[in-house]
Amino acid sequence: MRILITGGAGFLGSHLSTRLLNEGHEVICMDNFFTGRKRTILPLLDNPHFELMRHDVTDPFKVEVDQIYNLACPASPVHYQFNAIKTIKTSVMGAINCLGLAKRLKARVFQASTSEVYGDPSIHPQPESYWGHVNPIGIRSCYDEGKRCAETLFMDYHRQNGVDIRIARIFNTYGPNMCPDDGRVVSNFIVQALQGKPITVYGEGQQTRSFCYCDDLIEGFVRLMNQDTAIGPMNIGNPGEFTILELAEKVIQMTGSQSTIIHEPLPSDDPRQRQPDITEARKVLGWEPKVSLEAGLKPTIEYFDRLLAEG
Ligand code: NAD
Ligand code: UDP
Repeated sequence: MRILITGGAGFLGSHLSTRLLNEGHEVICMDNFFTGRKRTILPLLDNPHFELMRHDVTDPFKVEVDQIYNLACPASPVHYQFNAIKTIKTSVMGAINCLGLAKRLKARVFQASTSEVYGDPSIHPQPESYWGHVNPIGIRSCYDEGKRCAETLFMDYHRQNGVDIRIARIFNTYGPNMCPDDGRVVSNFIVQALQGKPITVYGEGQQTRSFCYCDDLIEGFVRLMNQDTAIGPMNIGNPGEFTILELAEKVIQMTGSQSTIIHEPLPSDDPRQRQPDITEARKVLGWEPKVSLEAGLKPTIEYFDRLLAEG
């Protein structure tokens, strides 16, 4: 197949590109390089089945493809709050452009949605049937509401125009190819630990997250995309739940760092807990994550170590 990945030069996009090329597909990687880096796709540039297209997903585009994965959107709070209006435009106009193309081509289209659609959840763990608890006017809203609106658009194009959609709700994912200055918790803590700088825990560090290793997540993506039983939204994540303080301690221990933990103010609307209910993914996709936090942190630490050594 020929497959378009928007946001293909990002953290997840680079892993998805590699996976699809290894399966023998042609990949068109579209990216505006807002948070994506050439470095992540450098090993793919010589592959004759890989095509790079510098383009903004908010501007209309035409390509002939069989499938579309829509991943374009900054994912780290630091990056998506940098230009909040652009973030919501990316989610909403990007979804409209991908859906319009999918409609014309009769191509299957996949939306990288997020656990953020659940906001600061009052149900724990979160099943897909939970409608969420989202502040529509806060500093995270450009991302949360943009992604919620994208889900609405996907469902409406499906109901109204018969577009063949898949929606994944992704929970915090980490691994090699994350940006060192990404601002997300795993990259921040590892880089701080490797540089011997204080580990910045926001608030008391009692908020929880569930961390999924990138390889597990990509396996879930591909299975969801290539089955005909369910369109989603489907939770894809690792149910292992850790407090942020536990993560900080694990990173310090695994890097052998002398770093100390310092506390900084908790950003507003920071969700207190998050854990995916993956019953649906287990049942429909026969999928569950295989990589424990410790096993996934090891190659991630090695990746950042190499990156920092390169300077
Ligand atoms: P990332 O920031 O590394 O990648 C996003 C990519 O999209 C980057 O390459 C960026 O340059 C590109 N992009 C941003 N705006 C664009 C635009 N207007 N036009 C074209 N390209 C644009 O983030 P990621 O972690 O790889 O996330 C990929 C997708 O998965 C995002 O949609 C994100 O919301 C979603 N997601 C990720 C996580 C996670 O934990 N990694 C969790 C939930 C959802
Ligand atoms: N966090 C932290 N220190 C950091 C970065 C993040 O304590 O240097 C916390 C953040 O407040 C949140 C959690 O770690 O509670 C996860 O943050 P991240 O930005 O990775 O993703 P989120 O799940 O909040 O979108």
